[in-house]
Amino acid sequence: MAKAKKIHVTVWNEGRHEKTNKKVAKIYPKGMHAVIAQALNRQKDIEARTATLDEPKHGLTDSVLRNTNVLIWWGHMAHHEVDDEIVEKIKARVYEGMGLICLHSAHMSKIFTRLMGTICMLKWREAGEREILWVTKPGHPIVEGIDDHFILPKTEMYGEHFDIPEPDEQIFISSFEGGEVFRSGCTWQRGNGRIFYFRPGHETYPIYYDKNVQLVITNGVRWAAPAYGRPHAYGHREVGWIEKRARKTRK
Ligand code: ZN
Repeated sequence: MAKAKKIHVTVWNEGRHEKTNKKVAKIYPKGMHAVIAQALNRQKDIEARTATLDEPKHGLTDSVLRNTNVLIWWGHMAHHEVDDEIVEKIKARVYEGMGLICLHSAHMSKIFTRLMGTICMLKWREAGEREILWVTKPGHPIVEGIDDHFILPKTEMYGEHFDIPEPDEQIFISSFEGGEVFRSGCTWQRGNGRIFYFRPGHETYPIYYDKNVQLVITNGVRWAAPAYGRPHAYGHREVGWIEKRARKTRK
């Protein structure tokens, strides 16, 4: 099956900082998810909806998950409140081919750590430092339209070592004012699903309004969208099944 005409995206946000921190609420009055979804909905080939932690089933019912081609995840203070049953359903959908983009502090989310199989810890400091994101994979679809680097004037610092499995592709490395570096854009494949981790997005800075950040997320959606309509089939095969299948296709 060819790629669907529109890529259906669900932007998931924990949505708690926006409710409890006035500074965050001022930057993102409707939540970070609304800003990300709005940017995606400006694209003709993308249709984005949102879901948040406090909705029933966290806004991720079976039908929402079934109809999501790419899921974007932002979480921080309430990772532990995400229902394990829903996490397992998301994981199964990734194995079937749903794309997953984990943003910023989603490095500690249940879904990301379970898919990675490692601790996913890092060093951090919140001091409004400048971050330079350097492109380490020129020509990759995720960096289409991005110069060889871009700058975020004020961010939270994330530093190595980042305890992730070796990425399939290294898209960005960040350097910070204080001297640390960080693998801020990485991809993996799990089953049929493509996963992109993208670091920017601390809630007290207006990072999701940044044009380069929005472009990388948009490119990431197109890259992570499933290319095939059917997951790979596993399991027992009887003697002669290849011939039988060939006869069937010849008919
Ligand atoms: Zn943060």
